Amino acid sequence: MDNSVKPKLIMNHYIGDLMDENPLPFIFLERDKENILSVIYVNHAAASFFENTSQEPQHFFSTEVWDQLHVLLNSLEVEKHTLHSSLLISLQNQVFSIGISVFILQSKANILYGLTMHNTKNIIVENHALLEIKEKYLSLLNHNTDSVFLVDERGMIQYTNVVAGKILGYDLDKLLHQPIEQFIESNSLGNFQLMTKQTLSGYPAELQKCLFQHANGHYIYVYLKAIPINDQGNVKEFHLVLRDLTISANDKDQLYYLAYHDHLTGLWNRRALKEHLRDNLIDANNRKGQIAIMRIDLDRFKLINESLGYNYGDDLLKKIADRLSLFINKSSNLYRQSGDEFVFILKDKTREETSSFAENILSELSKPIYLDHQEYFVTASIGISMYPLDGKNLDELLIKADQALFVAKDRGRAHFRYFQEQMNLSFPNEALMESHLRRAIEKEELSIHYQPQVNLATGEINSFEALLRWNNRKFGYVSPMQFIPLAEESGMIMQIGDWVLEEVCKQLEYWQEKGYRPVRIAVNISPKQFKQENFAIKIREKIDKYAITPNSLEVEITESAMTDMQDTFAMLKELKDIGVVISIDDFGTGYSSLSYLKKYPIDIIKIDQSFIKDMELDVKNAAIATTIIQLAHSLGMEVIAEGVEKDQQVEILKSANCQKAQGYFFSRPVPIDDINQSYMTNQP
Ligand code: C2E
Ligand code: MG
Ligand code: MG
Repeated sequence: MDNSVKPKLIMNHYIGDLMDENPLPFIFLERDKENILSVIYVNHAAASFFENTSQEPQHFFSTEVWDQLHVLLNSLEVEKHTLHSSLLISLQNQVFSIGISVFILQSKANILYGLTMHNTKNIIVENHALLEIKEKYLSLLNHNTDSVFLVDERGMIQYTNVVAGKILGYDLDKLLHQPIEQFIESNSLGNFQLMTKQTLSGYPAELQKCLFQHANGHYIYVYLKAIPINDQGNVKEFHLVLRDLTISANDKDQLYYLAYHDHLTGLWNRRALKEHLRDNLIDANNRKGQIAIMRIDLDRFKLINESLGYNYGDDLLKKIADRLSLFINKSSNLYRQSGDEFVFILKDKTREETSSFAENILSELSKPIYLDHQEYFVTASIGISMYPLDGKNLDELLIKADQALFVAKDRGRAHFRYFQEQMNLSFPNEALMESHLRRAIEKEELSIHYQPQVNLATGEINSFEALLRWNNRKFGYVSPMQFIPLAEESGMIMQIGDWVLEEVCKQLEYWQEKGYRPVRIAVNISPKQFKQENFAIKIREKIDKYAITPNSLEVEITESAMTDMQDTFAMLKELKDIGVVISIDDFGTGYSSLSYLKKYPIDIIKIDQSFIKDMELDVKNAAIATTIIQLAHSLGMEVIAEGVEKDQQVEILKSANCQKAQGYFFSRPVPIDDINQSYMTNQP
């Protein structure tokens, strides 16, 4: 070996000689700016060890050794400055396993590595065939992202790849030639031994969870797979593949992100809101500063969501989030509180500044939004509470902003309101109302009113709509428009819906037993109820339980319940098979395609009251209502007009051949006693 490169190292003369004559093999390698590795110095011991290899420095190692060295040196740079490992080197059809240490001598400009070898006596001699196979698998093992051990039948580790050292935190020489069991936690040992036994008898085995000791002393959860190496029917060694089940640092960042951000919009979430607000309040308290909490809720978002479908709803929310993000700066941060509700925390803004901030938001949101090339208009309502004026603690401030929002919604929407003390009394927070609603059934606060549906041609009344009423001791009479959404959001609608169905069936049974003329009752079904898999079964059970005629019961479904074609069709067919009557409520307010009318077995269409309202003045509304009536008739369906309040409306509907109408013009929804008295008792 030509050692003319030696002066490059600028070695002290004596040290140079010492190195040359050292019985331990020494090799220096250099990595240049192009990342090319080359051998630049080899001492006598190393040269004589490799005496049968090429004399060219670049070809000093075979590609097999270069491969291993690349992996080792790469991990050296990232991890630490010295690494102990082993190399498999083939010389003259023999494989030598030698322990090596590699270290960085100089890391400026060109990197200089030192490499020493030890355990050169510990040599495995392999036959030629095995050697070839080893070569092939070696690079696979070295580059594997899982830890791989070669374990012999005594349980001693004969080989580990670099990843094993990294994951478990050991220098490779601390693992090599050690019993593998010493790293296994005592409670996992029994299972581990079973796995080993099975593997040595020739079958692969795995352990889903095993505790392995990390170099730092703690245990990490790992998945283990043991694969026997079959040598002419005998298993003397096996590969043990180990996968770390704990969370990587990267995953931890990811988890942090997920925990504090809203998945849909990427904004901070409710959890972040609470934590940030808590910090901001402490800070404001120390500085005698001010904080404004601004809750923004989209008006009638539910309608858009349900009529256009959740994908468009999501799209809309993302667009709204983008617009609101324009207002984020050093003193204002934005959060998505829930569905269609966003919150701003504003720091140190005067009341005037806060008001103009809210006005700007309202005007930004009032610009049209495009979804699928269609123009939509969205408005929002805003409720604001101020620290320290309205309260000192986080929950109190959030609730007060919510109460202000509630008032804004109640008083016409699309504007902002500050919290005022009297709101406390008249507008309770939703959480409180929800907890009262939970006990409404057992406290017998719910009742049903019935609204007659009038046959326009004959004036006869032989059907009614059941409408739920809630009279609470604290809140008094609460409108279904207010508590039904609450029941839907909290899931209580299932229980409440069941209760309504039960009451209605009981009522029908009572009338049947009395021998009254056959009448029908329509029940409102919430989308959540309709989407239950066993909804039709529930209906059948009720019909059987009260032995009522199936077509005396009508289910009113809204278009928003029919989002999935297949499921909807299957459910409607089941209901039709039972024999109940099916109607579409609030028809015309959804944006869904009309083609479903042809496909689904629907009996009745109920025209939404918004088309009936002012139809005598508004030509457009009259035209829409008339068209819906004609369309329904051409498909063989019956039509009921809702919200009829004036006789002119009755006349228009009659001339369009609308079969039935319901509304204050004929009767408001009334308690069952009134129905019994006015419509049932006198008739046989
Ligand atoms: P809906 O099913 O469209 O019911 C018709 C609503 O219009 C009822 O309001 C009714 O009182 C009202 N109404 C009837 N005639 C007139 C009229 O001439 N003029 C005006 N302005 N309104 C009229 P209500 O009872 O407040 O119910 C509101 C909504 O709450 C219902 O709309 C329905 O969607 C829901 N709802 C009521 N009861 C139940 C129930 O038991 N279950 C479910 N899931 N929802 C229900
Ligand atoms: Mg209805
Ligand atoms: Mg309706």
